[in-house]
Amino acid sequence: MTYAHKWIDGSPVDLPPGKVICVGRNYADHARELGNDVPAEPVLFMKPATALCHLDAPLQIPAGRGAVHHEAEMVVLIGAPLTDASVEDAKEAVVAYGIGLDLTLRDVQDELKAQRLPWEKAKAFDGSAPVSGLIEARGVSTRQNLDVLLEVNDTVRQYGHTGQMLFPVFPLVAEISRHFTLLPGDLVFTGTPKGVGPLQSGDRLAARLGNFLMVRTEVL
Ligand code: ZN
Repeated sequence: MTYAHKWIDGSPVDLPPGKVICVGRNYADHARELGNDVPAEPVLFMKPATALCHLDAPLQIPAGRGAVHHEAEMVVLIGAPLTDASVEDAKEAVVAYGIGLDLTLRDVQDELKAQRLPWEKAKAFDGSAPVSGLIEARGVSTRQNLDVLLEVNDTVRQYGHTGQMLFPVFPLVAEISRHFTLLPGDLVFTGTPKGVGPLQSGDRLAARLGNFLMVRTEVL
């Protein structure tokens, strides 16, 4: 299935799907729940464009590779090239927000971590980055903390807000651009609050960002 960025009303976003930069351990309570230290600088990894899919379509998760964990995250869409950007430039370049799931093969990741190997097999598989329709950044005030919430089968599993981020969104995007050039159409997954856990076939999910974006989906 091909993926294209879309707005919350379903109309197309005029930017190509690009790479996905993810941030690990950006919420202290989540770092702790997995037994990790709170990092001094952002832990970054990537998913390719082939990882992208639409969150509002039923989710196909890998079978036979152990636990598949949900990580609900605020997502930002990049609208201008950024290399070694200032925080101000980073802010200008963030053109939209969404909510996504950084799906993770947790057993595979634990094995890779134990062997001190890279995480891609656990993080970058096809369909590992479901993302909602997007909302224009100019309509969103980031001065208030935005809730990041995930319910599974009507039970709140993950709840946090963007004020809890160790690396707030615009400094984070600026920092990412010191390591990798960001291009129009790239997405940044900004890290997950605590409460990650396994998904099962038949689970019904509701993901919410702030009070303006709510997506329901299910696991096939
Ligand atoms: Zn994550």
